[in-house]
Amino acid sequence: MKKTMSFLTAGCGLAVALSVPTSASAQRGATAAMDPANDPVQTLVSRLDLEKYKNTIKGLAQFGDRRQGTKRNRDAVTWIETQLKSYGCQNVERITYQYNPPPPNAAGRGGRGPVTSPNGRGRAGNGPGGSRIWSDMREHGANNDSLAQPDPAIRAINMEPTSPGERQEVICMKVGTKYPNEMYIIGGHMDGIGWGQAVNDDASGSAIIMELARILSMPDVQTERSIRFALWNNEETGLNGAKAYVEQRAPMQGKESPAGSGKYPEPKWLGMIQHDMMMVDHGPPTADGKLSPEQRLGADINIEFASTSKFADDAMKLAFFWRAANEKYATDYPAAVGPHMTNTDSDPFKDLVPSLSLRENERGSQIGGNWDPTHHQPIDVLTTYTDKDFMLGLTSAQTTLGAIGQLTGATVKK
Ligand SMILES: [Zn+2]
Repeated sequence: MKKTMSFLTAGCGLAVALSVPTSASAQRGATAAMDPANDPVQTLVSRLDLEKYKNTIKGLAQFGDRRQGTKRNRDAVTWIETQLKSYGCQNVERITYQYNPPPPNAAGRGGRGPVTSPNGRGRAGNGPGGSRIWSDMREHGANNDSLAQPDPAIRAINMEPTSPGERQEVICMKVGTKYPNEMYIIGGHMDGIGWGQAVNDDASGSAIIMELARILSMPDVQTERSIRFALWNNEETGLNGAKAYVEQRAPMQGKESPAGSGKYPEPKWLGMIQHDMMMVDHGPPTADGKLSPEQRLGADINIEFASTSKFADDAMKLAFFWRAANEKYATDYPAAVGPHMTNTDSDPFKDLVPSLSLRENERGSQIGGNWDPTHHQPIDVLTTYTDKDFMLGLTSAQTTLGAIGQLTGATVKK
């Protein structure tokens, strides 16, 4: 009896969490599958454009590695804010918090797990987030050597060292017409490290959020539920920007303010989806640990949830909903689901609300096994990537726009 009860309880939880896609909008989706021309979500996804996505990434890359606690980072925050306002995104705000870390360690970062061993010196074994790495390759630690950057212009942009103190990050919103009191949060992190241009990590994810903010803010677009767009800062120091948001905003959820206004500064959270490192799927590195020159055949995007999180079952359902959106809306690359979400800004949310991360590879088994040798290195610059890499990033934008469009009941005025 007790077993049956707990099974029913779990079942109810799933039904509640995913009531939206199984109801009206899913029926609309089913109809639309037969007639894509009348699917408003398809109309929105069709507005994504590879050149626009690349241009947004280039806009972020002009601020170098955008290391937190520097002018180049603050200038990037201002640039993002200006863009979001120009798109007409609603409620553009800055989250303000303090970051006063202990003195940096030799690798130039604190608050993260152990620095991994060089390629070829490890053994098959455990990776980040409870994963297993099936090779003897391991990711490298972050570069903290200015001279490792061969381009003098990029080196000059990145010269100012980080200082402790006040930090800011930008958020904005699409306010729901029917349920302005509920929202999904989608995010990417705008800060980087490594003396490059932080193009893949994580201009590629930040640009997805900005492009979705642009498209969903178009005057002919309505959503029934709200959507939060978040451009986190301080991800590289230990998710401090996302943690500050959780600390400040979790208690505000679902409260109407001022009373009777119909306005909800922080709608109730329904899910959080992070986009971090979206473009490199070149498979394992070459024998000397360098980036394999071509995108691998069978490249895909990776949707991860944390099987150890409080909302594991609902997050798993949400991950497969995202995968289904990829099958329905993405043009070029498939998606795979994995259970070891880790090391990104969805982490502080995972025990409060179903949470996912989207990536180019599995964070643990693949990036942990050095499948992305651009990670935190001086080669994370625009000139490293081809259109195939940028298209892999755009595939995640198509996937998330397809999923979030359905979940929030998006429509387009004719
Ligand atoms: Zn990242």
